[in-house]
Amino acid sequence: MHPLMMLLMLAGGHSMMSVHGHSPEKVPNKVIDVRYQVCPVKGGKPLPKIAALRRNRVYHFCSRECLDAFNNNPRPVLRKIQGPQEVALRTMNPDGLDPVSGHPIKIRRNPPFLVRGDTITFYATEDSIGRDGDPDNTSPTGSHSGDNKNNSGVCH
Ligand SMILES: [Zn+2]
Repeated sequence: MHPLMMLLMLAGGHSMMSVHGHSPEKVPNKVIDVRYQVCPVKGGKPLPKIAALRRNRVYHFCSRECLDAFNNNPRPVLRKIQGPQEVALRTMNPDGLDPVSGHPIKIRRNPPFLVRGDTITFYATEDSIGRDGDPDNTSPTGSHSGDNKNNSGVCH
């Protein structure tokens, strides 16, 4: 193909103007957190941050390995889940925008997400996970500086 033709096609198909009017993809606003006591793959403790979203349901696992096993072949894993408790989650960012970076979330590409209590937050990138003010996960701030001021000084 002639290079000029290529250029014209690119310019025509992907001009910034054509973005106008597109809204971010909607993230699911009805998500169920499926809760159980043992990981259905290896029997460990399901962890909040190791989770997969499938058909608007969140499943938790004890390790990345178990998560991968589920993603590769969910059905046998789903069958092993015992005594699931289903909790409806509130989507924190139904606008489909990453709360940290503001970037649109690609919901069809298994975006990262985080379940906190009865809420779920979706992110555009893994870098953003939990950086939008997780009350359980904030790094120590200066709020207690008055109490601990003398801790560093060695008492003799
Ligand atoms: Zn596991």
